[in-house]
Amino acid sequence: MRETNNMNLQNTLEFARQADKADKLSAYRQKFLIPQHNGRDVVYFTGNSLGLQPRTTQSYIQQELEDWAKFGVEGHFLAKNPWMNYHEYLTEKMAKIVGALPEETVMMNQLTVNLHLLMVSFYRPTKQRYKILCEAKAFPSDQYALQSQIKFHGLKIEDALIEIEPRNGEYVIRQEDIYEAIEKNKDSLALIMIGGVNYFTGQVFDMKAITEAGHKAGAIVGFDLAHGAGNLKLALHDWGVDFAAWCSYKYLNSGPGSVAGAFVHQKHLKNTELPMFAGWWGHDKKTRFLMDKTFVPMQTVERWQMSNAPIFAMAACRASLDMFDEVGMDALVERSKRLTAYLEFIVEEINKTNNSCLQIITPKENRGCQISIVANGYGKPLYNKLIENGVIPDWREPNVIRCAPVPLYNSFEDLYRFGEVLNSLL
Ligand SMILES: *Cc1c(COP(=O)(O)O)cnc(C)c1O
Repeated sequence: MRETNNMNLQNTLEFARQADKADKLSAYRQKFLIPQHNGRDVVYFTGNSLGLQPRTTQSYIQQELEDWAKFGVEGHFLAKNPWMNYHEYLTEKMAKIVGALPEETVMMNQLTVNLHLLMVSFYRPTKQRYKILCEAKAFPSDQYALQSQIKFHGLKIEDALIEIEPRNGEYVIRQEDIYEAIEKNKDSLALIMIGGVNYFTGQVFDMKAITEAGHKAGAIVGFDLAHGAGNLKLALHDWGVDFAAWCSYKYLNSGPGSVAGAFVHQKHLKNTELPMFAGWWGHDKKTRFLMDKTFVPMQTVERWQMSNAPIFAMAACRASLDMFDEVGMDALVERSKRLTAYLEFIVEEINKTNNSCLQIITPKENRGCQISIVANGYGKPLYNKLIENGVIPDWREPNVIRCAPVPLYNSFEDLYRFGEVLNSLL
């Protein structure tokens, strides 16, 4: 099963079960609470929207509730996991997942908030350099963040925002079109801010190459990794990415609205002159409680922390990161590739008997564990029928069904069952 050669794959329940049995990571499915439909597990394909709940999450949160009851404010020091520097319990494990150094990684706030805070420091338009390059149809929150940053600096969106679109009749953005736009705007480009994985098509961008091209042009390069963290093998430090932010409730299974991540490259950490919005949690922790009026910035990405940590969200995040740490991204990505290839195979098999009405728009060579399908001639009703039949993909306007076979809890059998249901509906 190592090979993703379609010759070896079969669209049968027996094959799927055998594949599950042969993979030791299949055991992780048991560690999650899987929603039920008519008395059986749903086929959950929306781990890219809200990851499922690990069974251990409850006890991690329970611990903090108990310590709050027992100690009140003293829990900051006396809790089993003292709250004072609770975020530090997450740092190393998170850093490993995104390929960063611990000093470059912090869990804080929410994703869009982090994008803004980081742009305050890293989008510093001048008369000469003021443009931002992003992908067209980025996730709406990112578009609003970029537009409002531009307006905040008194600039016009139409002058300052460059959006790279797919070519006519195509779904995915050609990487060479990004390089061309960077080259064309190299004298005025201040920032490149792209989603590492496009939420709609599932296209993965070559972050290393974009970072290099951006730096060559003299621009800062940041990524939104909402769909990248916990999905792809990332190497933010080695790639030299300037900053990044991501949420933890998608592939990282930390619960709805849970705490987000932020990355600032080591090369910027000693530069305490960087403009920023400060709060007390970014102050040097050794002297924070002297309550002095002068802000003494930490020399790690923790400098961008403003507020004290949301302990319950972090407890949930911790439960999940402990599991990621146990498995490791290498093993996870390897399984992810096999699952995704099997899903692709199933869709292709179904196409053979259904007039090729299904079109996978996710690029084969540049993808994580998401496949976006356009079902030509079928609209949202097909999606609704899938839901009625215990399959939960998601629907993205105007015409895409997204399926994410998540390696920690989706099984080969899930993919077979999806195919069976889909076939019966076409
Ligand atoms: C999910 C997602 C968001 C959500 O932002 P929040 O601040 O967490 O609500 C933003 N950007 C992208 C690219 C996303 O995929």
